[in-house]
Amino acid sequence: MNRDKRGEIFGRLQAANPRPTTELVYRSPFELLIAVILSAQATDKGVNQATARLFPLANTPAAILALGEAGLREQIRTIGLFNSKAKHIIRTCAILLDRHGGEVPRDRAALEALPGVGRKTANVILNTAFGEPTVAVDTHIFRVANRTRLATGKTPLAVEQRLARLIPREFLQDAHHWLILHGRYVCTARRPRCPECLIADLCECPAKTPPSAPDPASARQTGPAADPDQPATPRRE
Ligand code: SF4
Repeated sequence: MNRDKRGEIFGRLQAANPRPTTELVYRSPFELLIAVILSAQATDKGVNQATARLFPLANTPAAILALGEAGLREQIRTIGLFNSKAKHIIRTCAILLDRHGGEVPRDRAALEALPGVGRKTANVILNTAFGEPTVAVDTHIFRVANRTRLATGKTPLAVEQRLARLIPREFLQDAHHWLILHGRYVCTARRPRCPECLIADLCECPAKTPPSAPDPASARQTGPAADPDQPATPRRE
């Protein structure tokens, strides 16, 4: 995909949503960190329901440690993998108090040293809590970047590095949110909504959904539909 097309894509996404942000509900970098740790293999809606219970009780590292692992588990038990997430959060809170004065560090290495925090989570925190122009490549961004040919790559890291290099600088800060939202609501995994897509004429996907395409449920009766993703999309972390 050429530079002019990339610029036009982000210009349109920006015009449609000038102030994009995360759908996770948070009021501090610490709340965002906890919400993002909880969001692995969970929906933002499910995380928001759990944090609506948890944060009024405990929204600082000291308060969560005071709640204890069993108390924390009780508040987040509606979320997948809540046992291991509770362990990670308790250890993360202890480290934040011991090494960072109870604050979330604005530093990639320090963030990635926290239990339950990988590169993707660190990128979300750096971008959304601290305003840095990072791109956290989740399953949606990986799919959209490869499908559209905006930035192709076989791994999330390869796509992240290409996006960081190829997205015009003025769009980099918000690109993360635009691409996630586009993947979540328009360029969906099973049946991308190409007829309604505002970048359809710029997208280089070779297998767009035609207008009035048959429902995938009926298509399955005659065999699998062609997968427009190249390469294959990884499972959500
Ligand atoms: S045209 Fe289709 S495949 Fe391309 S970005 Fe839009 S929804 Fe995704």
